[in-house]
Amino acid sequence: MRYCLRCLRIAALVQKLLSKSINYYLKEALYIIMNKEEWMSLSDQCIMGTYKRFPVVFTSGKGMKLWDTDGREYLDFVAGIAVCSLGHAHPAVSEAIKNQADKLIHVSNLYHIDTQIEYARLLIQQTALDKVFFCNSGAEANEGAIKLAKKYGNDRSGGLKNEIITMIGSFHGRTMATITATGQDKFHKGFNPLLAGFQYIPFNDLAALEKAISTSTCAVMIEPIQAEGGIRVPDSDYFKNVRRLCDEKDILLILDEVQVGMGRTGTLLAHEQDGIVPDIVTMAKAMGNGFPIGAVLAKDCVATAFEPGSHASTFGGNPLAMAAAKATLEALLAEDLISKCRLRGSYFMNILNELGKKHPVIREVRGRGLLIGMELDCEVAGIIKKCMDRGLLIASAGPQVLRFVPPLIVSEPEIDRCIEILDDVLREGA
Ligand SMILES: *Cc1c(COP(=O)(O)O)cnc(C)c1O
Repeated sequence: MRYCLRCLRIAALVQKLLSKSINYYLKEALYIIMNKEEWMSLSDQCIMGTYKRFPVVFTSGKGMKLWDTDGREYLDFVAGIAVCSLGHAHPAVSEAIKNQADKLIHVSNLYHIDTQIEYARLLIQQTALDKVFFCNSGAEANEGAIKLAKKYGNDRSGGLKNEIITMIGSFHGRTMATITATGQDKFHKGFNPLLAGFQYIPFNDLAALEKAISTSTCAVMIEPIQAEGGIRVPDSDYFKNVRRLCDEKDILLILDEVQVGMGRTGTLLAHEQDGIVPDIVTMAKAMGNGFPIGAVLAKDCVATAFEPGSHASTFGGNPLAMAAAKATLEALLAEDLISKCRLRGSYFMNILNELGKKHPVIREVRGRGLLIGMELDCEVAGIIKKCMDRGLLIASAGPQVLRFVPPLIVSEPEIDRCIEILDDVLREGA
């Protein structure tokens, strides 16, 4: 251990002395000197143990592929958890980040920001919402949405309408307000007291929603498809009925599109397929193809509840993030990846269903576009590990659901390869 720390220190010193291109080779040399196990034990020494990580260190990627410290190649059906939708190292995004970094990285929202205005305009043109607030993550976007809904409700009721209904099995983030909004006990454990003013009801249950709404309810917050909760798709008329109920009872409909947004389900925003317009939408994961960015979108009449001083974010919408996000959205549209996502999604879904007929352990395949879950009769951890040993990355969504969220650029042969490996692994048993 002392040996690799010394290596790191020497490398850092030589890096200071040498040019950029030599730096690159030096880093490569470091991978030879320091093996995976040494990286991992250094990681345990200095990084908080909030994740149970897989034993691999990735160092580069391109498109659908990733490479680790041993030079091994992987086919990536995780995309950094539905983040890198354009694939790794997309040239337009890399170029935009490099150019903007040379020009201006940050100035603060005390001032108007040209790239922010440009991107906001583009985003709003593509959606049914009117205004946007930029932040840096999904949880921060949902915090913003929760605050906006409370402010809107309180302002209009003399402080009486401020409670939010969310769904059992939902996931909204890891800050105090968003774990409270998250309707799963395992995320609450050890963090009492939670915030007041949240209520949980079953997902896809209109009667439960109707019963839960009271005069103090200001909003209902829902994911169009519960992603972390196991890729759960509601009935096709659910959101139409939720919208109608929200209108009747004068409460806001907040949709958490952090994971399903940005084309993942075959439309830019998932709710377009439900034929409704929500009052507030949150987005994050795929917005910057890996650059951290989040957003709260709202209808004009709701957005006005935020006045100067109501809410803020130091980094939110800074020039660099906006350049990344703008390049990402432009590439998504220029490469027509959203309609490709629909085509590849149904191709993928069909062969996964075929696989289901072959392996009795497969209980159900469900999802939309390239957000697909496969529920098994057993735990999926062992299967994910075995796929990884064969060079295929898959995520999970709960203990018994495999989650497939590849970059939207995935090709049919790459889907075939994924199926081939999965078929092998399932034949062997978990
Ligand atoms: C990932 C996710 C979040 C949290 O996003 P972070 O960027 O990790 O804070 C919130 N809601 C949903 C639906 C998500 O999938």
